Amino acid sequence: MDFSLSTEHNQIREAAHKFAQSEIVPGLRERDREARSDRGMLDKMGAAGFLGVCVPAKYGGMDADYISLGIVCEELERADTSARVVMSVHTGLHTMTLMQWGTEEQKARWLPDLATGKKIAGFALTEPNAGSDAANIRTTAIRDGDGYVLNGSKTWISLANFADQFLVIARLAGGSEDSKRPRYAAFIVDRTLRGFSSKAIHGKLGVRAGDTGEIFFDNVRVGEDCMLGEEGDGFRVAMSALDHGRFTVASGSVGIIVACLDACTKYANERTVGGKPIGTKQLVQQMIASMVQGRDIGRLLYYQVGWMKNVGLRHTREVSLAKWTNCAAAFDAANKAIEIHGAYGYADEFPVERYFRNSRGAVIYEGTHEIHTIVQAEYELGMRADKPLKHTLPTWPFS
Ligand SMILES: Cc1cc2nc3c(=O)[nH]c(=O)nc-3n(C[C@H](O)[C@H](O)[C@H](O)COP(=O)(O)OP(=O)(O)OC[C@H]3O[C@@H](n4cnc5c(N)ncnc54)[C@H](O)[C@@H]3O)c2cc1C
Repeated sequence: MDFSLSTEHNQIREAAHKFAQSEIVPGLRERDREARSDRGMLDKMGAAGFLGVCVPAKYGGMDADYISLGIVCEELERADTSARVVMSVHTGLHTMTLMQWGTEEQKARWLPDLATGKKIAGFALTEPNAGSDAANIRTTAIRDGDGYVLNGSKTWISLANFADQFLVIARLAGGSEDSKRPRYAAFIVDRTLRGFSSKAIHGKLGVRAGDTGEIFFDNVRVGEDCMLGEEGDGFRVAMSALDHGRFTVASGSVGIIVACLDACTKYANERTVGGKPIGTKQLVQQMIASMVQGRDIGRLLYYQVGWMKNVGLRHTREVSLAKWTNCAAAFDAANKAIEIHGAYGYADEFPVERYFRNSRGAVIYEGTHEIHTIVQAEYELGMRADKPLKHTLPTWPFS
């Protein structure tokens, strides 16, 4: 076993950290206050290569491994969750799923623009009546000549108003499909198609500097060449996407814990009570120690999943464990960070209240706390087992 990170990993961490400090942090408090998302940041992330960090060079990507993707997510979320969310939906849920399920023709068609950020992508599974119960989605796809017609709506979609294209999971309908067990299909849907529209969701608790919304399909016609996998593969495509998305959420959550430690170690050394820094108080030390625990356990969990992706091992259980553990640890760290800051943690003069609000969302999306608890128990009880996948993510090194 080798636990060391490579020189490339350390260079990518340094580059992502510098990028976050110069491009994300300035003006962040105002953007968060005003719930204003910065479309220009996506272009900068693309130009810096982060959106294509683990995409093969032959498609215009950085050609780095999957652990590097985790490191980028950690460093970006250390600055702000909204930047990591872009990595989650664009790179994890969309681009990597295309790398896994796309035909050579589809990869050549879409990956170069996604890897460089010329096109921004989202992932659309959730519907008003289907979140955890994803099998209950009602957006339909009906075969029509050499394509499909989509009708329905999706909600809580990150980058709903910014993304150029979405990976959409729909229920196959029409003809004999209606009478059988539900079957699903996955499509890459361009937002310029007739009948597509989107609307922003306002008043969010967190990720206020990020775009979230609803998308609508009113007789949207997509060509059959836009389907990932075959008819009936849609649910498996969605679950593969979540294996990638959850990895980015798990690694990003470590970034929140690091940010809490950055803020709290400074504050605990400076703030005095009774003439002594609060960092000398054992109960404050206990909170700091617990954050250290979350950071280091969290890194081990996501590094392991990154390695499993590199060598091509199935990791659905491990990534669920990493996502579940790290999101809970990040929320706990942010809560403790407010405690350490006392009243000053309760307003946005210090960033910890933003960490608290932002870390809450990740406990919900990409599988709630309860869903991952059930998943872990079911694996252990022998009630859940992974079936071999039709298509696997390319292993690293890519060539
Ligand atoms: C900021 C944000 C961004 C998002 N981005 C996207 C995106 O880009 N694309 C996308 O498709 N979706 C996205 N989502 C949606 C997200 O994935 C769903 O909100 C999530 O899957 C939970 O679904 P729900 O909100 O419908 O809650 P429900 O499924 O209605 O759950 C409500 C409660 O019931 C509990 N519950 C549900 N089922 C069970 C069960 N079987 N046993 C025990 N408890 C259960 C849940 O744990 C939860 O506590 C986003 C959500 C947020 C908040």
